[in-house]
Amino acid sequence: MINEKVAKLINEQITKELYSAYLYLAFANFLEDEGLGGFASWYVVQAKEEVEHGMKMREYLIDNGIKVELGAIDEPKLAFKNVEEVLKAGLKHEEYVTSLINAIYDAAWEVKEYKTMQFLDWFVKEQVEEEKNANDLLSKYQLFVNNKQELYHLDKELKERK
Ligand code: MG
Repeated sequence: MINEKVAKLINEQITKELYSAYLYLAFANFLEDEGLGGFASWYVVQAKEEVEHGMKMREYLIDNGIKVELGAIDEPKLAFKNVEEVLKAGLKHEEYVTSLINAIYDAAWEVKEYKTMQFLDWFVKEQVEEEKNANDLLSKYQLFVNNKQELYHLDKELKERK
């Protein structure tokens, strides 16, 4: 079994991971519209990863005999003026997700639930990667935004992400 409060937080996180996927799909739509098919494709891959995160959590709850309840996924509301704002929002969102994972870790720590802390270790590590990726994407865009040829190559390169 898992502590009730911890289980509830993980359960809610499943919905939040799926919201991340939904948000990143909205980013992809925006980027596609801006003619950056590679950036869009990068965010589609990211969206799929978010679904995987939710699945991992679902499996963990089920493995521990917890009944999973799915919450409503909010509609992503985008009010971006340009590509840079989208990429900045991507970084900010990952920082927010890190804070959510940390909060679940805190709850598990409080009740000395070692197995959940160990389960969450993967996510703690993953968030380092997620923040780095979002930051790199933003930095590269800022570096090449005024050089159409370089931006074209970067966009092409981003399409390679599987
Ligand atoms: Mg995630």
